[in-house]
Amino acid sequence: MAKCVVCGKPGVYTDRLTGRVLCKKHFLEHFDRKVRRTIRRYEMLGRREHIVVATSGGKDSLSLLHYLYGLSKNVPGWRISALLIDEGIKGYREYTVKDMLRVVEDLGIPYRIVSFKEYFGLTLDEIVETGKKRGLPYLPCSYCGVFRRYLLNRIAREMGATVLATAHNLDDTIQTFLLNVLRNSWERVVRQGPVTGIIDHPKFVRRIKPFVEVTEKETATYALLQGLVMPEFYECPYVHYNVRVSIRRFINELEERHPGIKYSMLRSMLTVIDLLTKNHSLKGEISECRICGEPSSHEICRACFYRYKLGIMESREMVVAEEVFKHKKP
Ligand code: SF4
Repeated sequence: MAKCVVCGKPGVYTDRLTGRVLCKKHFLEHFDRKVRRTIRRYEMLGRREHIVVATSGGKDSLSLLHYLYGLSKNVPGWRISALLIDEGIKGYREYTVKDMLRVVEDLGIPYRIVSFKEYFGLTLDEIVETGKKRGLPYLPCSYCGVFRRYLLNRIAREMGATVLATAHNLDDTIQTFLLNVLRNSWERVVRQGPVTGIIDHPKFVRRIKPFVEVTEKETATYALLQGLVMPEFYECPYVHYNVRVSIRRFINELEERHPGIKYSMLRSMLTVIDLLTKNHSLKGEISECRICGEPSSHEICRACFYRYKLGIMESREMVVAEEVFKHKKP
């Protein structure tokens, strides 16, 4: 590796866009400057916050937890906690839970781990099997994403969070943007900004993405330099069902040929969100799910819809769902 452009020490990171090589010290300073600028630019955090960090045990979320914990030492009004949702994916999640426990225990960060099994009665593996037996057309990632987001909001609120921080980096964010555009899902685009877009409901915890302007490569380098991840690499067994894999490959190829396109896509996304937010027809009404009482843009939220389709509802809940879906084809 070439020498650091600032001090001449051995480099650990090369910025493909500018060609700048940085050593450990100057990479960490660069990373810190970038994330602080994002937090300021989007007014993500105030003086008094209980920040609950959504943590999966992967490199991005452990980097975010570690970074915000470090930052909080200089802000007396900030409190940091971690929240991990254990979906119940055999051969995968148990290992990342261990990585998360190592970091929170090392730093002394309070945390909570809740599982799909505890709240929905089934692990994700069991949900996928049940869905197959019932002939449901939904992919594992669809159940996973809906139930995870549902629990993140509900449990963060129970933990007294003023804000929920997620580790979506630049790559994740533009992949989701493109995915939603391809699906003609503009309501979702509106809600994927650096700070929770238009969701305004007392039961909804404000969400922030402090890593939205840092690349996957930068968070991976941060995690590595801070000793946050083990050399073993674990991959979710359902990842191949996820269309995001193809989108990721496509965007990476574009970036390879046209450096800077990722940032350009982020700017496009922000412009689109700005334009769409002014379109009140997309704003929609957020009320509460008739079954679970959680915030929802429909009479019944997506998590309860899936519970209904999977047959994992209590009979009194089933009565309400039947009544709502009697005249609708969900
Ligand atoms: Fe969940 Fe899909 Fe991600 Fe696996 S790949 S953790 S199933 S969203």
